[in-house]
Amino acid sequence: MIAVRDLMTPIGSEASPDDLLGPVIETMRHNSHSCVVVSEAGRVVGLLTERDLIGVFMNVAGDAVSRPVADAMVVNPLCVNANDSLLEALKLARTHKIRHLPVVDDNQLLVGMVTHTDMINVYVDILENQVQLIDDNMHLRAQSLEDPLLGIGNRRAMEGDLVRVAANTRRAGQRFAITLFDLDYFKAFNDHYGHVHGDKALKQVVNTMVESMRHGDSLYRYGGEELLLLMPNTDGSGAIQAAERVRESVIRLALQHVKSPHGILTVSGGIASEDFMTQDQLIAAADKALYFAKSLGRNRTASYQHTN
Ligand code: GH3
Ligand code: MG
Ligand code: MG
Repeated sequence: MIAVRDLMTPIGSEASPDDLLGPVIETMRHNSHSCVVVSEAGRVVGLLTERDLIGVFMNVAGDAVSRPVADAMVVNPLCVNANDSLLEALKLARTHKIRHLPVVDDNQLLVGMVTHTDMINVYVDILENQVQLIDDNMHLRAQSLEDPLLGIGNRRAMEGDLVRVAANTRRAGQRFAITLFDLDYFKAFNDHYGHVHGDKALKQVVNTMVESMRHGDSLYRYGGEELLLLMPNTDGSGAIQAAERVRESVIRLALQHVKSPHGILTVSGGIASEDFMTQDQLIAAADKALYFAKSLGRNRTASYQHTN
């Protein structure tokens, strides 16, 4: 908790009720203070603000500067305790429309002063920090769900999204599908071109896949060089079309792979739709279809339905 003590300013301009306005105004001007606290034996008895001074000069004809402070000050102004919270003090100032609050200690002795502006400024700083904190947290959360190399969702993100899509799909009485993609002969690619080049190629493949997938579909790194395409609101034939479009985009990228019988880097995909009870069963089905596509020569997609 931020207390008034943490932001109050020590008393700079103080006066007693008997002081004459002239020298007091001169001190205020010299210190650039818009207000003085009037005290007697350390206790607050009044407050003299610029506004009060204008009042005196308007009302008193003649020599206002030779009047005592007591004639112009607000008597027994509201004070806050140094231990009060910033929020309490701010509410008090706002409720009573007060710009200056003398601060007293537990013995009611004057120890400082806070202005409404000071309090608002500190409060705005706190809010700004909190907004920054929320931003940072969101950023961290997003990072923990993103694969750092490929910039797509990681397996954790995929698992969460899969549960959500499954629930929404069931509620809406629709279907959804997944395709598990795997780069073909990628070990040979790494062995031949080196791991750094392999990373670069993997990124290019993923970027191309993301560009070619339909709006609403999502791609995740399932692990290693395996990628999972999640397709909400999609039936079996729609899934085949979408998966084929993604696979063909990798062919168009035409990254040379001299160790592949296809001469270029290609992907295979295994498609499964949500007729399976659990997430694990669905992924196992896609994996089986992927294995089938690989066995048929790679660079193709296969549906689980057609593997039985
Ligand atoms: P297949 O056509 O049967 O899929 O053959 P493959 O060589 O692609 O499959 P395998 O499972 O034998 O090898 C996968 C390779 O993918 C080995 C691994 O080093 C590579 N790999 C996985 N993740 C990365 C990565 O982030 N960067 C690079 N450069 N290589 C990766
Ligand atoms: Mg592979
Ligand atoms: Mg693999």
